Amino acid sequence: MAMSTAIGTTLEQIAADPRVTIRRPGEPNLQGSAVVYWMQRAQRGTDNPALEIAIAAANAIGKPLVVFFQLVAGVRGANLRHYRFVVDGLGDIADDLARRRIGFVLRHDPDHGLLRFCHAIEPAMVVSDENPLRAAERARVTMASNLRVPFWTVDADVIVPSRLLVKEQYAARTIRPRIHAQLHRFLQPIRQQQPRFPWVPPKSLHTLRPGPEMLDGFPIDRTVAPVAGIPAGSGAARRALQRFVSDRLTGYATQRNRPEFDGTSRLSPYLHFGHIGPDAVALAVRDAAAPAADRDAFLEELIIRRELGVNFVRFNPYYDRLASAEPWAVRTLAAHRDDPRPHRYSPRQLEQAETHDPLWNAAQRQMVATGWMHGYLRMYWAKKILEWSESAAAAYAIAVELNDRYELDGRDPNGYAGIAWAIAGKHDRAWGPERPIYGTVRYMSYASTSRKFDSATYIARFGKSDDPSLPAAARKGKRRPTTR
Ligand SMILES: Cc1cc2nc3c(=O)[nH]c(=O)nc-3n(C[C@H](O)[C@H](O)[C@H](O)COP(=O)(O)OP(=O)(O)OC[C@H]3O[C@@H](n4cnc5c(N)ncnc54)[C@H](O)[C@@H]3O)c2cc1C
Repeated sequence: MAMSTAIGTTLEQIAADPRVTIRRPGEPNLQGSAVVYWMQRAQRGTDNPALEIAIAAANAIGKPLVVFFQLVAGVRGANLRHYRFVVDGLGDIADDLARRRIGFVLRHDPDHGLLRFCHAIEPAMVVSDENPLRAAERARVTMASNLRVPFWTVDADVIVPSRLLVKEQYAARTIRPRIHAQLHRFLQPIRQQQPRFPWVPPKSLHTLRPGPEMLDGFPIDRTVAPVAGIPAGSGAARRALQRFVSDRLTGYATQRNRPEFDGTSRLSPYLHFGHIGPDAVALAVRDAAAPAADRDAFLEELIIRRELGVNFVRFNPYYDRLASAEPWAVRTLAAHRDDPRPHRYSPRQLEQAETHDPLWNAAQRQMVATGWMHGYLRMYWAKKILEWSESAAAAYAIAVELNDRYELDGRDPNGYAGIAWAIAGKHDRAWGPERPIYGTVRYMSYASTSRKFDSATYIARFGKSDDPSLPAAARKGKRRPTTR
C-alpha cells in the first residue's frame, strides 16, 4: 500500500520535533499491525514525550499503539536493588497506559526481545526513547540496523534536547546560557494525546504480568538487597514531588547542603528510571509559591547540572574513567601521582566502610543501607577515595563501581559527571594552593566539611555504634566529632 502525501507530510512534521532522531529512515509499513513504542529509559505512561511522539505517529498512519518493555538481564552494575525498583514501577505504567487505551506488552530479553515481538506483530514503525550511556546507545544503534521498518528515538528525559548542545560543554557557565536560551521553547507542559485506534492484542500474544515475580529465576546479580522506604513508580514519584514542593522547597537554597536534614527532593531515583520526567518536576517547581531563591536553586540543579551531566556522557566517550578529564587536571594529578598517601584502603575496605573517617564511613553506610547518599556527602565521599587510593585512575574506577552498585540512582549520567567533578576537576577549575595528591583539583577536608553541618547527628544516624573510627561524642550522637 503506497503512503499518501498527507500521511507523509504529517509524519515529516512529527519528525521535525527537535527531540526526534531518525535512526532508520523510510516509509512506515502500512500493512503493519501497530506502531510500537519500545520503552526503555522513560518508564512512565504520562508526561512522556517519546510516548506522545509515538501516539502522534500512530494516529497519523491510522494504526494502534502498543508499548513494548523488555526486562534485560545482566545490565552492567545493576543488581536486585535496581531490578526490583524497575519491576515495582511497571504496575503504574500498565495502569496509566490502560487508562489511555494503549497496549502494553512486557517480556524478558533476550528470549522474548523486541525483534521477536516485531517478527510476530509486524509493526508499521518503531519509536523509542534515548539514553546517552554507552551500552544503551549501542542497543539502539544495533536495533536500527536490525529492524526493517522506520525507527525513531525521542530525547524524552531532558528538557532541552541534548543534541542541540552540539558538543561537550566545558562547565555550568558555558551550558547555562545555551540552555536558558532554549527553555521558553521546551519547558512546556507535555500535551497528552489520545490514540485514535485501540490496540487489540493477538490471541496468542505472550505478555508477562507486572510485578516482582518477573524476577523469579531471572539471571541477575542478587547480592545487593532492594531498598525499603523508596517506593517505585510514577505514582510514588508524583507524590514525592508534591510533598517536596509543599513541605521542603521553601528553604531548599539554604538547607540542601545540610545532610542531617531531609531538605532535598530525593527525586533522583525516579528521574533515573524515568518514573517522572524533568519537565513535570521543573514545571511544578517553577509554578510553586516558594520564594524565587529556592525555586531558582532547585532548577539550577535539576536543569543546568543534570543536563550538564547528560551532555558530558553524550559527548565524552571516556565518561566513566579518568581519560575524561581536562588536560589541566590530567597534568596536575599526574604530577602528584607518586605523592605519599598516609591512608590507603583497598576497594573492599572502602566497600565495608572500614576507614579511619567516621563521616566517610557514615556516608558509605547510608548508600549501602538505603540506596541513596546525600548530595553534599557524595562530593566528599568521592574526593576521599582519590586521597586513599593508589592512583587517580584507580580512584575513579572504585568510585564508579561503588556508586553504580549501591546507589539506586547509580549508572546515571549525573553519577559519572559527579565522580568526574570530584576526582578529575571536570566542570570545575584549578584551585590553589596546590596540595599533595590532589594537585590543583579542588580539595575537601574532613574538618571543614564536617563543620558546615551537624555532622555528629548524621554520623550517629548512619555510623555503627561499635565503629572504632567514631569519636566517643559521635557514638553518643551528642557532640560534633573531633576534626583532623
Ligand atoms: C560523586 C558524586 C556521585 C553522584 N552520583 C549520582 C548518581 O549516581 N545519580 C544521580 O542521579 N546523581 C548523582 N550525583 C548528583 C547529585 O548528588 C544527586 O543527583 C542528588 O544528590 C540526588 O538527590 P536529590 O534528588 O534529593 O537532589 P535535589 O537536590 O533535590 O536535586 C534535584 C535533582 O537535580 C539533579 N541534581 C542535583 N544535584 C545535582 C548535581 N550535582 N549534578 C547533577 N544533577 C544534580 C538530580 O537529578 C536531582 O534529583 C552525584 C554527585 C556526586 C558528586
